[in-house]
Amino acid sequence: MNIYDSARMAAALETLGYTQTPHREEADVMLLNTCHIREKAADKLYSEIGRLAEIKKTRADEGKQTLLIVAGCVVQAEKNEVLRRAHGVDIAVGPQSYHRLPELVAQFEREQGRVLVADFPADSKFDFLPPHKATSASQFLAIQEGCDHFCSYCVVPYTRGCEYSRSMAEIVTEAKRLVSTGAVEIMLLGQNVNCWHGMGDENLPDPDLGDLIRRLGDIKGLKRIRYTTSYPSKITDNLIQAHRDVEQLMPYIHLPIQSGSDRVLKAMNRLYTVAEYEDIVARFREARPDIAISSDFIVGFPGETDEEFDQTLQTVRRIRYDSSYSFKYSPRPGTPASLMKNQVPEAVKTQRLLLLQKELLSQQKQAYEKQVGRILPVLLTERGRQKGQLNGYTPYLQNAHVVADTTLLGQIVSLKITAASATSLTGEVVR
Ligand code: SAH
Ligand code: SF4
Repeated sequence: MNIYDSARMAAALETLGYTQTPHREEADVMLLNTCHIREKAADKLYSEIGRLAEIKKTRADEGKQTLLIVAGCVVQAEKNEVLRRAHGVDIAVGPQSYHRLPELVAQFEREQGRVLVADFPADSKFDFLPPHKATSASQFLAIQEGCDHFCSYCVVPYTRGCEYSRSMAEIVTEAKRLVSTGAVEIMLLGQNVNCWHGMGDENLPDPDLGDLIRRLGDIKGLKRIRYTTSYPSKITDNLIQAHRDVEQLMPYIHLPIQSGSDRVLKAMNRLYTVAEYEDIVARFREARPDIAISSDFIVGFPGETDEEFDQTLQTVRRIRYDSSYSFKYSPRPGTPASLMKNQVPEAVKTQRLLLLQKELLSQQKQAYEKQVGRILPVLLTERGRQKGQLNGYTPYLQNAHVVADTTLLGQIVSLKITAASATSLTGEVVR
C-alpha cells in the first residue's frame, strides 16, 4: 500500500512540474512516506529525517531551497511528535489527505510557513489524484482502504480510518488505464481486500471481490490478477471459485493467521479459530490444488505461553506455507493490547521468532526447490543486479531470474527452472 501511495504522491507532484531523481542531493522536494505498523518502522522516520535535514542544510548553504514533506501513517498517528522531534519538516500529510499535496506545496511557497494536514478529509482522495498510469509491467491498484476490525494489537483502524471501498466502475477505469499504459499484471490492494464491497452497476448491484476479479478478467491485455491482504473469516465461496474460473487470477493467496492458538486469536480479536482457518485453506486447495499459501505471524502477543507458541509451530507444520512474514509483537500506542499487563519479555519474543522463522524458511525453501525442472511462466519486471540478468515472478509469486535480452522486459516468458535457493529461482528461456 505504501509503494502505491508513494507512486501516486509522486504523480501528484509531477503535475507541478517536478520529476523524480535518484540523487537525494538534487531534490528540490524530498518526500518521505512512513509506516506506523510496528515501532521499528516508525522509529526509522526520525533518523531518516535527520539525514535529510543535513542535505537540506547543505543545499541552503548553496542557496537552494528544499521542501521536506513527511507523509503516511506516522503523521496520522503522531502529528505533534513529528513536528516536535523533526525540525526542518515543512509539510506533514496523513495517508488520506495526500491528494492535497499540490495545493499544500503552492500554499507553502506562497506563505513560506509550516503547513500541517493530517486529518481525515471529507472527500475521497481518489477523486482528486491525477490519472494513474503504469510505470512497469506489474502495478498496484488500491481498491479498498481502512479497517473496521480493530484487532487488539493494530494501529491501522486509527491511521487509515474506517473501511472504504472504491466503486467497481472507478476500479475498472483505473485498471484499463494501467493496461493501456503498459501493465500486464495488477495487484489489487486493500487492508482487508476481500472485504471490498464497492458500488456495482445495474448488472451486478452488489458485487464482492470474486465478482470484481471476474469483471477485471474481461480486460484485454490484462494477463495476471492478484490481490492482497485477505482477512480469513471474510473469504467467500465466490472468491475461492474465482481461482478455479478466472484464468488470469494467479494461484497465490496471502492469508494472515497471526497465531495457531485459539485463545491468543480471541485475545487478538481475530474472528476465526484455527480449525476454521484450516478449513478455508483446504477449500482454496480444493479449488486450485497448486495454490501457494502465505501468511503473517505475530509471536509474543501479551500472555502467549510456551504451549500456545508451540501450537503456532504445530499449525505451521500442518498447513505448510509457501512463504510468510513473521514479526515480534510490537506494542503500539493507543491499542488495547499495549495496555495488557502480561507483556512477553523481549528475549522470549526473539527466541520464538527465531524458531518460527527457521520452520517457515525451511518450508519456503522446499516450495522453491519443488520448482526445479519445471517450466514456468515468469513475468519479467526489472533488470537484475548482475549484468544481463532480468528478474520477475512466477504465478506463485516466487522470485525468478534469468540471463536474457532486455527486450523481454515486461513480458511473460517461459522459463525452465534450473536451480533454487530459499528465496529465488534461476531459469533459462525456453524457445
Ligand atoms: N489486514 C491484514 C494485515 C495488515 S497489517 C490482516 O488483518 O491480516 C500487516 C501485518 O502486520 C499483520 O498481519 C500483522 O502480522 C502485523 N502487525 C500488525 N500490527 C502489529 C503489531 N502491533 N506488532 C507486530 N506485528 C503487527
Ligand atoms: Fe489491523 Fe488487519 Fe486487524 Fe485491521 S484486520 S486491525 S488491518 S490486523
